[in-house]
Amino acid sequence: SPDLKRAQALITTTPDFPEPGVQFRDISPMLADPEALRVVFDGLAAPFAGQFDLVAGIEARGFLIAGGLAAAAGTGMLAVRKAGKLPNPDVRVEYDLEYGSAVMEASGDLRGRQVLLVDDVLATGGTMRAAYDVIAELGGELVGSAVILELDGLGGRGRVPDCRTLFRM
Ligand code: 5GP
Repeated sequence: SPDLKRAQALITTTPDFPEPGVQFRDISPMLADPEALRVVFDGLAAPFAGQFDLVAGIEARGFLIAGGLAAAAGTGMLAVRKAGKLPNPDVRVEYDLEYGSAVMEASGDLRGRQVLLVDDVLATGGTMRAAYDVIAELGGELVGSAVILELDGLGGRGRVPDCRTLFRM
């Protein structure tokens, strides 16, 4: 739609951040625009309407998206955190990065909950894959996952083939 095209055009690209050779995509200007935020959040949630009672967001930009979708849908929300932020996390999932590894943590009893998992950007898919494991280990049923932007050519589609994406670059 024209509204979504206009929203996508608000995503900025910064070369060589956070490392040389990386093109950093930033959705912040898009979120700052009231009309763009509305069409993007509506578009993300629409395929899952009525199917979830909890929205989980991945630190940190995923929190913004999860909060907005949860409030709009009248559901709860859950923060999937990076290591060291939670006291006594119930689950801890280690995952591979390009160099080294990282850990994701969360707490809560998700048994009987229907979870929609969201983040801003899908790159290699390692982060989203690890978050799937976090939700499963907390006992939640993952009814879907979605990102605003999928970066082509980094393998994310292969790791999380069912993840919905609004934009691809
Ligand atoms: P992945 O694990 O798929 O390689 O990386 C995805 C995670 O890193 C997401 O949580 C996402 O926020 C962040 N990320 C990777 N590349 C970018 C990027 O170009 N822009 C932004 N905003 N985040 C990125």
